[in-house]
Order: sequence, then structure tokens, then C-alpha cells
Amino acid sequence: MTGAETFFLRFWGVRGSVACSGEATRRYGGNTSCVEMRCGDRCLVFDAGTGIRPLGASLPKDLPLAIDLFFSHTHWDHIVGLPFFCPAYRADCEIDVRAGHLVAGRSIEAVLRQAMSEPLFPVPLDIFHARFSFVDFIAGASLDLGDGIAVRTAPLNHPNGATAYRVDYDGRSICYVTDTEHVPGAPDRNILALIAGADIVVYDSTYTDDEYPRYAGWGHSTWQEGTRLCQAAGARRLALFHHEPARDDDALDRIGRQAAAFFPGALVAQEGMTLSP
Ligand SMILES: [Zn+2]
Ligand SMILES: [Zn+2]
Repeated sequence: MTGAETFFLRFWGVRGSVACSGEATRRYGGNTSCVEMRCGDRCLVFDAGTGIRPLGASLPKDLPLAIDLFFSHTHWDHIVGLPFFCPAYRADCEIDVRAGHLVAGRSIEAVLRQAMSEPLFPVPLDIFHARFSFVDFIAGASLDLGDGIAVRTAPLNHPNGATAYRVDYDGRSICYVTDTEHVPGAPDRNILALIAGADIVVYDSTYTDDEYPRYAGWGHSTWQEGTRLCQAAGARRLALFHHEPARDDDALDRIGRQAAAFFPGALVAQEGMTLSP
């Protein structure tokens, strides 16, 4: 197998904020953030939005599983699918959870336990049978996953913090950069350094530049900023991600055409889409 076949990503949820199933979002999909990345035999998962439910259902049921689950952060749209991730209930499954946004005194384990506690949820995290490990790091750290997989991280500009990831494997690289707000006219240096020369960048494209002023301070960016960052950093392809729930399929088609005209490597992330770097 070549690297192109053994290193790829698949989108299971591409929405931000809240799931939005329905006829108007049928083609691009209504599930919230979840991206699967395959590096050889390893399975990396970024965020546990509602897209993690169908991802779990797609994994082999007759083989033990080992999953590395990374959180950009713990807002609802990025964690709400976890209780519905069927591998979590399997004793032959190992899930290593990592997050980089929780400051002193907080931990990813405690936050997930809180989310799965009554009266918010009927059963606690201990209902899971998989062997879980929980690691908190400080965004900006590098993580060594072994098997030739290098993960670099960077802090993002988002309420309560968030972490961007870059995965280098087999001479290629994929970056996952959501949720983040840009400062107009001042490209985020942490992001530029992280995505330098990357093959694929998944980027928070919740808004357009026209819409952005109405949502300043909400913690999100625009597809135009994604193209500017990729151009400045010499990144090859850009996947617009974390779509605004009210954005219907036709609107995303239009944005995709505009973005590709602006930056030829741009495309709109779609549920079920697979990309190889
Ligand atoms: Zn989000
Ligand atoms: Zn968020």
C-alpha cells in the first residue's frame, strides 16, 4: 500500500453548533464535528459530535479496537455523540482520550463525567466497558503516538479555549483547525506555524467575511480567512468545515465555487467524504 492509501481522513460530521438533519442539509450532512483519520492501522478520531455515532457503527465488530480520540474542546457540539459511540461499550476496545484546552484544576475526564451525569444524562461514564485513558496536555505540546505518527498542537482563539492538531505521517500532513476566531487583518501566528506546508487543512468556516462582523466574539472564523491562512502558509488544500447549521446545501455549493475560485485547493467538507493528502 502507498501512503495515499494508508493515510486519509473521513468526515463523519461537518456542522458546527447543533445537528441539523433535514432535506435542506441532506447532501452535506447535518451531524456535528467528527473526523476520522487513518494512519496505517491506527485510527485517530477528532471530536465526538453526533458524527461519531455512525463512525462507531462503521468499525469492525469482530476485532479488538484501539482508538485515539482527540478533542478540540468540550462544547456540546464536539462531545454530545460520545455516549452513542458503540465501541465505548465494548470490553475489547481501548480508547485513549486527549485534550489540550482545559486549564489548571480541570480535566477532560472530569468534564466528560460531568456531561454524563444526572439530570443531564441518565447513566454515568462508568457504563462504558472499553478501557479508557485520559490525558490532558497544554495546547502547543507535541504528542508522540508511536508508529511514525507525529502530532503537533496549537492553542486556538475560542471561548473556554480550543486546540488545533497537525498529524504528520508517511511524509504527509493533515491539520484539524476548529473552533477559532480570527482577528481581521492579523493572521493567527499559531495557526500559520502549525499549518506551514501542510497537505490538507480542515478549517472553521462557520461564517463568510460579510457575515463575520455580526458575530465578532462568538469564536468562529470564515472561509475567506481559511484561504488567506493556507496561501500564506503554503498549505496545499483547504476543507471548509464546521458549517453554520442554517447554511443549506445550495448555499454551501455557492460557497464552494467561490472558495475554489479564490484558492484552487479549497473544497467544502461533506459527510462521508474521504480525502488523502
Ligand atoms: Zn463547535
Ligand atoms: Zn466551540
